[in-house]
Amino acid sequence: MTKFPQSELLNHLPKQFFASLVGKVNFFLQEGHDVINLGQGNPDQPTPEHIVKRLQKAADDPINHKYSPFQGFQSLKRAVAEFYMREYQVEVNPDKEVAILFGGKAGLVEIPQCLLNPGDTVLVPDPGYPDYWSGVALAKAKMEYMPLREEHDFLPDYTEIDEETLQQAKLMFLNYPNNPTGAVATSAFFEETVELARKQGICIVHDFAYGAIGFDGEKPISFLETEGAKEVGIEIYTLSKTYNMAGWRVGFAIGNESVIAAINLLQDHIYVSLFGGIQEAAIAALTEDQECVRKLNVMYERRRNVLIDGLQSIGWHVLAPKGSFFAWLKIPSGYTSEQFADLLLEKAYVAVAPGIGFGQYGEGYVRVGLLTSEGHLREAVSRIKALNIFEKK
Ligand code: PLP
Repeated sequence: MTKFPQSELLNHLPKQFFASLVGKVNFFLQEGHDVINLGQGNPDQPTPEHIVKRLQKAADDPINHKYSPFQGFQSLKRAVAEFYMREYQVEVNPDKEVAILFGGKAGLVEIPQCLLNPGDTVLVPDPGYPDYWSGVALAKAKMEYMPLREEHDFLPDYTEIDEETLQQAKLMFLNYPNNPTGAVATSAFFEETVELARKQGICIVHDFAYGAIGFDGEKPISFLETEGAKEVGIEIYTLSKTYNMAGWRVGFAIGNESVIAAINLLQDHIYVSLFGGIQEAAIAALTEDQECVRKLNVMYERRRNVLIDGLQSIGWHVLAPKGSFFAWLKIPSGYTSEQFADLLLEKAYVAVAPGIGFGQYGEGYVRVGLLTSEGHLREAVSRIKALNIFEKK
């Protein structure tokens, strides 16, 4: 077989750090160990039944066997507008301010292609979701990292960024509730963001993947609720987490008209839109009974409490996340995050994600997903307790 060399562009892509974690977990599973895998971000619950039923019905309809309209169903865009009005009191024009995406990930990777030229500067959070890096690499743009520090509630401190970088920056990624830190944004922070974006001409992309998951009675806020947000940016919403539809690949970009037009233009050249049956089911998800979302939130909050209370009780004094389905745990001194994750995997058969995989400022932490039962989370805590790493004060 001829081995064809990959393009320079592909060689330029960042290494997938977490592929090696999957390899390590599989090794221990193959050895017959009962690994509790808290290292990944795949929702463990099924899609609510009424949404699945809608797809089943729609799959029988021959209209959906044809090409769907290139930029997706108008009725789905109207459903997105209805959802934003109902949930966030944000008015959205379904014709000009909504683009349908093949999941949030596709949109996040497309946006740098839509707006940047080689050498342009992008501000990304550190630690942050690695897909931002992929899109930036494909656009041959340059990343500047915004540290997310615990003492600043894991929000970037814009006063830390030098003026020249701010002037050069064309794009900024933000994500609250945050993966990996579990932090949430405040209205004051979003207001500061809009002001900065206006002054410096930066396009803001707020990744709202965990928008539905907020704890202690606090509903996470949408960036688009902020006065002037649509003038300076967009929000990316996905059905993956809100409705346990990660495998269905449905997401949306909502906001600034010029950015939406650019996304639609790029997508016109790459795809025909999502399967019609999936679009119909997405309408059902967004517009029908939302009790499933409330129940999901309650389930994650209970899991969070089991994990955090359990870790506190064994002497691991960690912060409770305010949103998302991740907990961001500061590790004891004397280990790198990778060494500590390896220790938990090798000695307790508990897999967690080392913070360094999310960027330099992720060092010193591990990320734990709340994507398994309360029983498994309790078991993970008792296995960690048995390592006798933490002393009870
Ligand atoms: N953004 C963040 C922060 C995520 O954690 C994820 C998925 O894990 C996504 C976006 C992408 O979700 P999807 O492509 O399933 O919509």
